[in-house]
Amino acid sequence: MNESSRDFVYDCFSDFYSALSTVIPSPVLLGQREIGFLLFKERIMLRHKVFARIKDLKMFLGENVPSDVYRSCAYYENPAADMDKKGWLGADLVFDIDADHIPTSCSKIHDEWTCTNAECGFTGKGVTPETCPICGERKFDTKTWPCDLCLESAKNETVKLVDMLEKDFGFSDKEMSVFFSGHRGYHVHVEDDAVKTLDSIARKEIVDYVFGLGLTLSSGKTKSRSKRRRASRDFSLHDFGWNKRLKLGLQNFVREATKEDLKNAGVKGKSVTEILGNKELIINRCVEEGRWDSVKGVGAGTWKKLVECVKDLESSKIDTVVTTDTHRLIRMNGTLHGKTGLKKVGFPLGNLESFDPFEEAVAFKEGAVKVFVSDAPEFRLGGNVFGPFKRKTVELPTAAAVLLICKGRAEVAN
Ligand SMILES: [Zn+2]
Ligand SMILES: [Zn+2]
Repeated sequence: MNESSRDFVYDCFSDFYSALSTVIPSPVLLGQREIGFLLFKERIMLRHKVFARIKDLKMFLGENVPSDVYRSCAYYENPAADMDKKGWLGADLVFDIDADHIPTSCSKIHDEWTCTNAECGFTGKGVTPETCPICGERKFDTKTWPCDLCLESAKNETVKLVDMLEKDFGFSDKEMSVFFSGHRGYHVHVEDDAVKTLDSIARKEIVDYVFGLGLTLSSGKTKSRSKRRRASRDFSLHDFGWNKRLKLGLQNFVREATKEDLKNAGVKGKSVTEILGNKELIINRCVEEGRWDSVKGVGAGTWKKLVECVKDLESSKIDTVVTTDTHRLIRMNGTLHGKTGLKKVGFPLGNLESFDPFEEAVAFKEGAVKVFVSDAPEFRLGGNVFGPFKRKTVELPTAAAVLLICKGRAEVAN
């Protein structure tokens, strides 16, 4: 981002935070939270701030114009003190679902990563690897895009998470809040006394549950006289929590399964044709009634493979670190994301399926500006479709221009 582009984005953010019409919803117990900011020009993080009232914070935002605003999930006696002297009182349970952690087919088209090891510099397309395949470096420069498909996948993961929190953990929609992150995903916050004082280890248990780690899938019956009952002895699913999710998931999977799907799940040989030829029997007798021995040639080993595959489909791809960190700073609701100029916005749980981030998170509704776009895929924003652009000067509405500049795809044209 060159200087004139940065000044332009800064002015947009400044107008937004100074406007009387901008409302920043106050987090519960604001005065017990640590507030942090990333400054536009200096690119440094200001931390350990505290604000008694939301209007003080909004005034600060108007005067200092940070690119990103964060608040702690935790509550402290002294939020402004050093980390070890803050006096931790508890923390909300938060979940972050980001397209970066979900393998989508489109990431190969719009995402790119470059190894930061100066002697290597290897680049690739798609999801960023844990370590560089050439030199083993763990840090990368990444170029991603908040695409429609990626955000749809992130939403699906959020739907699965919320369903688990509701049905398996028993949280009500009063205790849960859901937000669009302002970039490539969603946040779910649980604010409830039952979770407030959970430590990292307890939070990790919750993460493991969401991923479906460590499930027991056998009936536990060790003796059986009949060899024909082997599958039912070695494999069973009951009717609660994950087992219920696996049952329903398995029924859906079998109903839709193709030869290809079964092979990808690791099913081999005659079992493939047996499953494809006995779908109704499997759905109704094996899965529904637990009579797993009902189809000849399909044994416990095959059921376990199918369930592994279904577990992956039914689990929710949350970011482990965010949930287990009890001191985490998370983007503040109603503030702008420095990588997009979109707002983090909360919305009712019931609207999750229909929520459209490219409509409801748009912060800049007026004006237009001429930009030189180096490279951008086709995208949708505020009811319009733009691009694709390649080395082109175009006049765009402010919101679209800010998005491209923040994503490093465009500069203000002189
Ligand atoms: Zn490398
Ligand atoms: Zn995508």
